[in-house]
Amino acid sequence: MPQPSLKIDRARYVVSVDEQRRIIRDGSILVENGRISRVGRADELAATGADRVIDARHFVVTPGFVNGHMHISYAHPVRGIFPDDLGSPLKQVFALQTAMTEEEEYHTTLLALLELVRKGTVCLLDPGSTKFPDACLQAYEDAGVRVIMGEAVTDREAPFTLPRYATAEAVARTAAFIDRWDGRLEGRLRAWAMPFSPETCSAELLQGLKRVVDQRGTGLTLHHGSGPQARKDYQGRGAKNPTEYLEALGVLGPNVLLAHALGLDDAEVDCVARTGAAVTMCPVTAAKGARGATALGRMPELLARGVRVALGCDSPNNSNHLDPV
Ligand SMILES: [Zn+2]
Repeated sequence: MPQPSLKIDRARYVVSVDEQRRIIRDGSILVENGRISRVGRADELAATGADRVIDARHFVVTPGFVNGHMHISYAHPVRGIFPDDLGSPLKQVFALQTAMTEEEEYHTTLLALLELVRKGTVCLLDPGSTKFPDACLQAYEDAGVRVIMGEAVTDREAPFTLPRYATAEAVARTAAFIDRWDGRLEGRLRAWAMPFSPETCSAELLQGLKRVVDQRGTGLTLHHGSGPQARKDYQGRGAKNPTEYLEALGVLGPNVLLAHALGLDDAEVDCVARTGAAVTMCPVTAAKGARGATALGRMPELLARGVRVALGCDSPNNSNHLDPV
């Protein structure tokens, strides 16, 4: 059945983000059968009507935003409850998340989705925080968003409570998760492998998960960071730095997304570029933690090397809001 047509009319600006990066003043957009069919100056589309017309004279219209790293399931319970001088709140955050019930997670996810959609986010990646994906599926469906989800796994000791399994079990769980969830919601839901970080996962686990996603044509994301101390630690293990450690394992590639990626040196920027990996930076998280968003974030250098760089807002305990912009 054809869907009603929609015209977004006379917007102050239409930021197209098309190949020419056009920004159209006094622009209109026509949506037919659920898809954008025309974008142009309002006078060019003046003769075209629609079932519904939105007067957008006071608005700027942009494509929907993509939030590339967003721990959605515990987003609201932790907003603002940790004092700023606590240091790292991760121990408390993960303890809280572990205690959440299915019903609580559904409602906190729904609340977070409302805020995301209201601020223009239409696609998000939850880096493996959701404990009850069955319960949250309805919230994703109702919100109409695209979502990338997975199950966080580790097989090593961590300083905070994370899901930890034997290596083979972690690989099998991830494969089963992807097989069950990838492509649901008419393709709006993608399922990825989500090892928490290189420090909490063995080389065998990281390699096993990369094989799983390569075989299934899906992706892998993990928390990643570097800096002088991290480089020293990895040199003790025979690698030059954390990024080239992942490359040597064969874990980096175009279907891998590194989250945060603070503290990369020039060699690591080169490494990300040559492997084709993508990066999500969370600048507000870095600022809130006083970690040096501009001193340690290498976004300009990564972009100059052609690396795909997304923005994320992590979670409200780390950034105070859910808005990547
Ligand atoms: Zn994270």
